[in-house]
Amino acid sequence: MPLSIIHFPHPTLRHVSRPIVRVDAKLKSMAEEMLELMYEFDGVGLAANQVDLPLRMFVCNPTGKRDEGEPWIVLNPEIDRPKGNDTAQEGCLSVPGVYGQVKRPKSVRLRGFDLQGNDINQVLDGFIARVVQHEVDHLDGIMFFDRMGEEGLRDLEGHLDEFQTDYASKQGTGSIADEATLAKQRAEWETMYTGGTTTHG
Ligand code: ZN
Repeated sequence: MPLSIIHFPHPTLRHVSRPIVRVDAKLKSMAEEMLELMYEFDGVGLAANQVDLPLRMFVCNPTGKRDEGEPWIVLNPEIDRPKGNDTAQEGCLSVPGVYGQVKRPKSVRLRGFDLQGNDINQVLDGFIARVVQHEVDHLDGIMFFDRMGEEGLRDLEGHLDEFQTDYASKQGTGSIADEATLAKQRAEWETMYTGGTTTHG
C-alpha cells in the first residue's frame, strides 16, 4: 500500500519512535516515498510517524523543491547543544492550514545516520535548525502547537477541534482503523525494523 500522510489527532503522531536497527531495500524505498509526499504537499520536512511508520527517521529539504537543494534522509536523529532563541511561524503537513509562532533554539547539533550508515554530525543554524527540531519532535510524539504559548494556542483551538471532529467521523465510517488495529500495525513495523539486535552504522 502506498504511504500517505496522517492527520492530527491520529495516535501514531503521539508515538515515541524507537531507533531503527535494520536498513533494507523496503526502508530505502519508503524513505524515497516520504520525500515524494513531502514535495507533493509543499512541505520542507516529514517524519516517518507522519506516514504511520513508528520508526526513528525523517526526510527534509529546506527548499521544499524536488530540483533544488539537497534532500536529507536522517535515521536515528539526536539533537543537542541548543544555542540562542528564535521565534518563527511553523505549519505541519499533519495539520494542513494551521500555523503558529513557535520559539526554539536558534542553533542545534544534529547527529544521526544516513541510509548508507554514514555518520551525520552537523551544527545547524536558522531555518534548517528549526525544520530538524520540528521533525525530531514528531519522532518524540510532539506537535509544534505543544510548544506554543497559551495565547497563540487559543487562536488555533477552533482549527484543531475541526481536525478532531473529522478524525472521529473517519473512524466512524471505518476509513481510519480503530486504535487497536493501528497499535497492532505499529507493533509489526517495530518488530521488523527496531526489534533486532543488529546495530546499523
Ligand atoms: Zn510537522
